[in-house]
Amino acid sequence: MVQRNRLSNPRKLLVSAANWIGDAVMSVPALEALRKCYPGAEIVLLAKPWVSELYWSHPAASRLIIYDPDGEHAGPRGFWKIVQALRSERFEAAILFRNSFHSAWMAWCARIPARVGYARDCRSALLTDGIEAPPAAAYGHQSSYYLQLLFRAGLIEKPEPVQSVRLVVSDAEKKWAEKRLESLGLQGRRFLVGLNPGASFGPAKRWLLERFADLADRLVGGLQADVLIFGSRDEKPLAEEVTKEMKQKSTVLAGETTLRQLMALLSRCSLVVTNDSGPMHLAAALGLPLVAIFGSTDERATGPLGPHTRIVKRPVSCSPCGLRECPIDFRCMTGVSVDDVYRAALELVKETKA
Ligand code: SF4
Repeated sequence: MVQRNRLSNPRKLLVSAANWIGDAVMSVPALEALRKCYPGAEIVLLAKPWVSELYWSHPAASRLIIYDPDGEHAGPRGFWKIVQALRSERFEAAILFRNSFHSAWMAWCARIPARVGYARDCRSALLTDGIEAPPAAAYGHQSSYYLQLLFRAGLIEKPEPVQSVRLVVSDAEKKWAEKRLESLGLQGRRFLVGLNPGASFGPAKRWLLERFADLADRLVGGLQADVLIFGSRDEKPLAEEVTKEMKQKSTVLAGETTLRQLMALLSRCSLVVTNDSGPMHLAAALGLPLVAIFGSTDERATGPLGPHTRIVKRPVSCSPCGLRECPIDFRCMTGVSVDDVYRAALELVKETKA
């Protein structure tokens, strides 16, 4: 248990944010619970550059410190630079949403007196409050995993299961999206469909590209949609393959947006079709109608938390395997037809229009 006297009224807390976009979105309810618990505290997020944008102007975060291990904090010199910066802040406690040994080592080196995190990745000795990680069955969805850390550390009351996560884009960001769409010849009232054919974790999470292309053609034909294809810079080739396979026109935006710009453009979409990925969690948190295709992962653990979501999945005995690449015949994804996804998309559109 955390020493409540030490943390009963902390002035300054450091929260080490999750590294992946999806995990960062799923940890937002825990961040909000922490804010509720310590309304007067300065809660500072330590986040990598790409993920950090998620917390811009989020009311639960007082401010951000960027940790850039591929840039100014690369190598041992860079590590000591961030450690010195954290030391000078004189935090009273560090809450580690990141599970790595490295995050605990950093908090220890920064001499933060209370260090709270799950006791895994051989880091127990570095934590003052190493919390035994609960089995997946005890918490269910990944969003509860972060809440459970706070609960088991005695920081919050027993949490309810999370129904949804909410993120917002600002008016300025919405205006930027309008202008960007205008520059692409997509101004005015349109039925925009966002496709996310990538998944950074690995190919086992990716539905077949030619099926994304076929689906996109059907959405253009059936709903008079304009299709935007999103993804990271590394996923641009995948996005270009999809557009090349299509008979109808589409617009590739993969690799051309920051995280906030991606959120702003997603928020203009009337429908998003996606693999289990960071953009899926963003779209759900923005409250968008979305169809998520699941195969190797478990939607009960990492499914989208939003008001208008549909999961399309072909039940196979080897799922969830959690692997990055399929060692067999990829039946979990080859079993999901274009018809399956198209039908789910039409149902969702009908439901959200009603
Ligand atoms: S092992 Fe099964 S669940 Fe995993 S990727 Fe292959 S087909 Fe899908």
